[in-house]
Amino acid sequence: QVSLFWFRRDLRLDDNAGLFQALQSSKVVIPLFIFDDAILDKLPVNDARVNFIHQSLSTVQDALAQIGSSLLVKKGQTHVVWKSLLEEYDIQNVFYNKDYEPYALERDAAICELLEQSNVKVQAFKDQVIFEEKEITKADGLTYTVYTPFKNKWLEKYKTMAPVVEYDTESLYANFHKNSYAMPTLEEIGFEKSVITVKPHNLKFISNYQDTRDFPAMDKTSYLSPHLRFGTVSVRKLVNWAFHKNDVFLSELIWREFFMQILFNFPKIANRNFKSAYDGIEWRNDEADFKRWCEGKTGYPMVDAGMRQLNETGYMHNRVRMVVASFLCKHLLIEWQWGEAYFAQKLLDYDMSANVGNWQWAAGTGCDAAPYFRVFNPDIQQKKFDEKGSYIRKWIKEFDLGYGKPMVEHAMARDRAIATYKAGILK
Ligand code: FAD
Repeated sequence: QVSLFWFRRDLRLDDNAGLFQALQSSKVVIPLFIFDDAILDKLPVNDARVNFIHQSLSTVQDALAQIGSSLLVKKGQTHVVWKSLLEEYDIQNVFYNKDYEPYALERDAAICELLEQSNVKVQAFKDQVIFEEKEITKADGLTYTVYTPFKNKWLEKYKTMAPVVEYDTESLYANFHKNSYAMPTLEEIGFEKSVITVKPHNLKFISNYQDTRDFPAMDKTSYLSPHLRFGTVSVRKLVNWAFHKNDVFLSELIWREFFMQILFNFPKIANRNFKSAYDGIEWRNDEADFKRWCEGKTGYPMVDAGMRQLNETGYMHNRVRMVVASFLCKHLLIEWQWGEAYFAQKLLDYDMSANVGNWQWAAGTGCDAAPYFRVFNPDIQQKKFDEKGSYIRKWIKEFDLGYGKPMVEHAMARDRAIATYKAGILK
């Protein structure tokens, strides 16, 4: 008789809520990871995220080997894998941490049904956020759709419980099973090494984060996003630490939770406007324009530098993400879903809630979004945030004073965007 702990986007042993609960159950625990064909089949063979997942699993595997245990790694359609696990093992309990994306919710509901039909007890835990689902709501129980009151309520609630409990999994390591399973190589799961890799995160910046975070050339943000996405760091540890160290940094972690609860409570926003009044906008959706944007060939240095950084590294600085997103939606009048999908392919830290939330913010179609008539001027953004052009020169090798010819003229594009939005918004 065994308990299974199912790793998904929580690829660490320390301070892991669901794993802690599994290790406390009275059964021997087998930790499991499934490479899900439904996700993998859509990805290129050198996908950098799959590389990072594989590398993170290897780290977990090495730690387990030291205590004479190991990870069970499977690949296939999740449903099929679970069916065969049920035949192979006498599974009594399954534990996992919750994932709030629409695909994951649907998958987990189907797996729960399958397991429960086989009399397996399934338990899911909150691990990737401090507050989930409907834990932070207005007095009348409705979801906050504006960030600042959400943040205030979040802080108020956090203060009553700070520091949040961290789960001491290590004290329970004796409860892991004592078999040794071979871990498949990257090639064995059908992938190959990527030249793009995830950087280690960096928290040394923290004392002056608020002064440096907006300047891409300084490169002084935490690089935590892929680690938060795949759970190689614990959000509880980070928040407990940020709470005492830096309010602005803490606010960014709260933005992450804000968008997670928005996606959970309004799953339609995965591909539709949060504000349906914006559904009537007549986008130009010009494919040739989109290609130039993707390749970083718009003639606007800040936009092009950002897109090239993304294409080369799988990362783009937040300030520049805002500039390129605004440019696509407003200057080129291409609907945000195109840009969101491109980011989803390229970003190492791709997370549906943050990506959709921020894209809709930039397009003006989201909750608490920038007003539609505010159109970023990419050249002014550059003057403000990359005055010396160091960021631009880093990513545009051929940059000189006469760089490119803007593919659209700013004043014209601005007026066109405002007029198109105005005409499309239902009054
Ligand atoms: P830091 O500045 O060090 O921030 C620390 C952490 O706070 C981040 O790791 C992230 O978890 C969180 N955070 C910061 N800003 C935001 C934000 N605006 N919204 C939500 N969480 C935030 N972030 C993603 O994690 N995944 C995405 O797919 C994603 N897509 C984006 C798309 C657009 C158009 C824009 C404008 C922003 C997007 N962001 C996304 C938010 C933000 O740009 C990244 O989280 C940040 O650049 C990651 O770098 P960092 O970890 O060094 O950030």
